[in-house]
Amino acid sequence: MALAHTLGFPRIGADRELKKALEAYWKGDLAQAELQTVGRELRARHWQLQKDAGIDLLPVGDFAWYDQVLSHTLALGVIPPRFHDTLNDQDRPTLDTLFAMARGATASCCNADHGQHAQELTKWFDTNYHYLVPEFSIDQTFALNWEQLFDEVDEAHALGHRVKPVIIGPLTYLWLGKAKGAEFDRLDLLERLLPVYGEILNRLKAQGVEWVQIDEPILTLDLPLAWRSAFERAYHILQYSPLKKLVATYFSGLQDNLGLAVSLPVDGLHIDAVRDPEQLGQVLDRLPTYKILSVGLVNGRNVWRCELEQALAQLQPAQERFGDNLWVSTSCSLLHSPVDLEREDRLDPELKNWLAFAVQKCGEVAVLRDALNDPQAPGVQQALAASREVQASRAASGRIHKPEVQARLAAITPQDSQRRSPFAERIERQRAQLKLPAFPTTSIGSFPQTPAIRLARQAHKHGKLSANDYQDAMHSEIRHAVEIQERLGLDVLVHGEAERNDMVEYFAEQLDGYAFTRFGWVQSYGSRCVKPAIIYGDISRPGAMTVDWIRYAQGLTDKVMKGMLTGPVTMLMWSFPREDVSRRVQAQQLALALRDEVLDLEEAGIRIVQIDEAAFREGLPLRRAQWQEYLGWAVEAFRLSASGVRDETQIHTHMCYSEFNDVILAIAAMDADVITIETSRSDMELLDAFEAFEYPNDIGPGVYDIHSPRVPDTAEMVALMSKAVQRIPAERLWINPDCGLKTRAWPETEAALVNMVAAARQLRSQLA
Ligand code: GLN
Ligand code: ZN
Repeated sequence: MALAHTLGFPRIGADRELKKALEAYWKGDLAQAELQTVGRELRARHWQLQKDAGIDLLPVGDFAWYDQVLSHTLALGVIPPRFHDTLNDQDRPTLDTLFAMARGATASCCNADHGQHAQELTKWFDTNYHYLVPEFSIDQTFALNWEQLFDEVDEAHALGHRVKPVIIGPLTYLWLGKAKGAEFDRLDLLERLLPVYGEILNRLKAQGVEWVQIDEPILTLDLPLAWRSAFERAYHILQYSPLKKLVATYFSGLQDNLGLAVSLPVDGLHIDAVRDPEQLGQVLDRLPTYKILSVGLVNGRNVWRCELEQALAQLQPAQERFGDNLWVSTSCSLLHSPVDLEREDRLDPELKNWLAFAVQKCGEVAVLRDALNDPQAPGVQQALAASREVQASRAASGRIHKPEVQARLAAITPQDSQRRSPFAERIERQRAQLKLPAFPTTSIGSFPQTPAIRLARQAHKHGKLSANDYQDAMHSEIRHAVEIQERLGLDVLVHGEAERNDMVEYFAEQLDGYAFTRFGWVQSYGSRCVKPAIIYGDISRPGAMTVDWIRYAQGLTDKVMKGMLTGPVTMLMWSFPREDVSRRVQAQQLALALRDEVLDLEEAGIRIVQIDEAAFREGLPLRRAQWQEYLGWAVEAFRLSASGVRDETQIHTHMCYSEFNDVILAIAAMDADVITIETSRSDMELLDAFEAFEYPNDIGPGVYDIHSPRVPDTAEMVALMSKAVQRIPAERLWINPDCGLKTRAWPETEAALVNMVAAARQLRSQLA
């Protein structure tokens, strides 16, 4: 009989209970025992939800207090010395160790004068989830050190559940980490690491576990040869440890690692047939049928209902070949889905009927299993018919396809993505009109989001503050921001973004084709969650979205006011996208809507418009072979949004990260007149990429890090810019912070900007 399982379930809770408990614990408002209780209750509830939905094998080990990679790091004893004063009497890590590694050591949990910085946070493959990067030293040792997984297995057994513990595989774990201190190859640590895996498997065996899921998502990446051979080595060694092992791969296809994956000496393989349906056929041909084949056909990363009949058709050949050895699953862990659609009491019923969150996805996996095992079983035919009806109702719905959007898409010409003149000519016209000094100073857009601003926005949203009063409140914030910028002597001003809750949601709320949930939270990192908007239909712009605010701001000053928009690629990356049209088409639709906004701003007399593309780099596919395709449409979408304007209108873009080497050509191809980027944390190193390739347009390399309240002094910023001047001609350089200032408070913001303006003046006099 085919079996239903999930690769993992969201741990945050339908009401973000874990978030609330964690934050209360960190503030000292919740005792550790109470926090433990919240965790235990969430685990129990999540197992029961999955079981009730029909899942046979329940995941354990998907719960984490902060991050599953961090839990595994503790389990393996990879604890950098700077956190050792949080260990207990037996030199074992504690919850305080875990939180110190996640958030940095503060006075409350360790000796304040150690003030240890947290481990680095980085994106989990191509998702918006962030994990804590393990730090390996050259003499790294590993020791089983943390009981959480075993305790949770006991907990689940005590509740009568049949479980499948989930652990991160040894190769993926090493791959995700970083060598610290000396230069060495972290793959050299494998032989030292494997015995601890052996120990973990032995312990689980003693607890009566039958199957373990070993996550090796790096099998879907372009792997260096050494790593591929290490897979064979590692799993041959682990072969002698007990338990049936299911190696889980997800987020992309196995491709050139397919031969390797199917021949590992393990008992089962999971593949992601949502991201790469083609690989299913190849795996059917090559995976020995005495092994378990687990097929993920219910998408763990999006919110749409699964097309059950289509999925069933894909599963049928697998069943013919694998029979009872076929398992049905989600494509990846449900960590990346919102928890429960049933909570959404305000969603439009038609739209709601098209969606499935984690709980509903478990039900879909179970239906697929039942349909394979016994198509006549009660409920199966109804479920299939319901799914069919949903697809039909969607196809027939008038709200998805908009003829006017289709017509505009069809009418796009190559000229639409082309500024009228090349940069060299444009910049002359812009300089003549803008009359800015050398090293012009500006900021990235947002100013501090004070409690007063948030309160006003909330009150307005809940109908407690009239539109007029809200407008007055925002206008007064804009006046405040403009006054300060004038007083400080900045050259290009911004209105400060007080009216924006979030750089994507603000625009999504004003576009047609977007829907919003009340509880559709997905964990981003630790206690942080995001609630992405859902693109359900063709995107259009009923009216101007920012023009009134920016025009008001420009009216307050003779200086240049920069308009501020979120770009099409970022809008798409930070939303749940449609699955019935390509990402390229959705980006084009967004680009057309933004293009109209850019033109309306120009029409309103705004001479500089910034189009933020914070998510441009992260949209890059996992496999290099797919990069060109992505970069092609991403660049085109940006250009489509930006290219309607006259030569005199200056287009800025902003990207707040520092790994540009891979995408520098594409960034140049975006052809923004000015790009502001993050550089201060890398000591301007990043500019090497821009120099090596001779980036042609203007650049504002961020001169200070806005992620910390620290106020950098003028000399420091001058020193950084002096490095920049060695690489980029001075007349093409701008001076600005790394990113938006919304998370900062006013005192440090003003102090830092005073110094920044002073640095610009100093540089100008040096230049003269
Ligand atoms: N304009 C935005 C801001 O200043 C940019 C934010 C970002 O790049 N993440 O907040
Ligand atoms: Zn930024």
